[in-house]
Amino acid sequence: MKSHKPSTINYKLFCEAKKYIPAGVNSPVRSFYAVGGVPLFIKKGKGSKIYDVSGKQYIDYCMSWGALILGHSHPEVVNAVKKVVENGTSFGAPTQLEIQLVKEICKAFTSIEILRLVNSGTEACMSAIRLARGYTGRNKIIKFAGCYHGHADYLLVKAGSGMKTFALASSSGVPKDFIKHTFVLPYNDLDAVEKITKKYHKDIACIIVEPIAANMGVVLPKEGFLRGLREICDYYKIVLIFDEVITGFRVAYGGAQELFKIKADLTCLGKIIGGGFPIGAFGGKKEIMSCLTPIGNVYQAGTLSGNPVSVTAGLVTLKILSNKKIYDLLEKKTKLLCDGIKENLKKSKIDVIINQVGSMFTVFFSNDKQYAKIFHKILKRGIYFPPSQYEACFVSLAHTDEDIEKTIDAFYFSN
Ligand code: PMP
Repeated sequence: MKSHKPSTINYKLFCEAKKYIPAGVNSPVRSFYAVGGVPLFIKKGKGSKIYDVSGKQYIDYCMSWGALILGHSHPEVVNAVKKVVENGTSFGAPTQLEIQLVKEICKAFTSIEILRLVNSGTEACMSAIRLARGYTGRNKIIKFAGCYHGHADYLLVKAGSGMKTFALASSSGVPKDFIKHTFVLPYNDLDAVEKITKKYHKDIACIIVEPIAANMGVVLPKEGFLRGLREICDYYKIVLIFDEVITGFRVAYGGAQELFKIKADLTCLGKIIGGGFPIGAFGGKKEIMSCLTPIGNVYQAGTLSGNPVSVTAGLVTLKILSNKKIYDLLEKKTKLLCDGIKENLKKSKIDVIINQVGSMFTVFFSNDKQYAKIFHKILKRGIYFPPSQYEACFVSLAHTDEDIEKTIDAFYFSN
């Protein structure tokens, strides 16, 4: 197998970037902080591959953190976007395209009667929580340790994703007063939820949860956990919010709700529905959504929300994904990959636990140092994994059998 020589161009760009951008990056996990070394500066992406500024090719399993389920620069997405930008990129007025995308999402998620588009997953979660508070007239919320719902102040409490990597209990800059209404409970611990809701239900507006956790690595919900949450929420009239920013259109067309056959009251979406462009969405029961301005009193707005570029890329992506056979194919491919990696790591005498659902997975090593070591070894072999073991890996439609084989080979270490 051809190994890559370290590139000085990435290093030079990193030094320059650090002068002007905090840590040289516009989002923390990109910095390689958790694994050490110099981040790759990407020049282009095509299909399953990314190419850094030195021209080196990598099979990508980060896939823009799960947004690119079709692979990089899918021709249908690119062509549709090219066409639409010629007619303008944003109007701050409604377009027919928005209706089409929202209709398609409502069709896929039977729990979503009505939906509003925003610009990121963070915005979607923030807005859904404000809405739940406005609807119930209650202040407190429950979230789970290790679940990440974006970087709103009151959610940065033992959050996962970048925050987990940096081992902070909460971000500085968040006043204690801002998080006093947030309960953080262990994921998969229904007893803890029962205890807290029994005591505080009159004050609890919502429970927000990743139905499959993907920000502490991929962690599946225990049998009965999501159903238990549904029952508790029904009993105490608490709004159940599923954050499907990652799982929506990823684990099934209708997300984790289709997989587990459990309906949320509100659902947050992002990533895939924008086909690689900035987007977010939150939606659900009409009765709750009707509390939004201008009909109701819960304020929420966005200059670029529903812009035709993101919406078009999303529409094309969903159209391709609506052939549900795709999900079986993705799952098979990913299972093959995970089985192969596991076997080769076993042969290499390296302990590992692999969690996989559909086309997302995590390779858990015994500690972060071990992950960093392996990350760099496979990077040299042309395989790009997320630069933290608490982030999920994603397989796209563009990953070929040859990519899978190459990746499995890269996980064999002779010493
Ligand atoms: N929810 C989940 C489950 C996420 O994984 C993320 C980001 N990875 C977010 C919300 C926030 O989305 P964004 O980065 O688009 O703000």
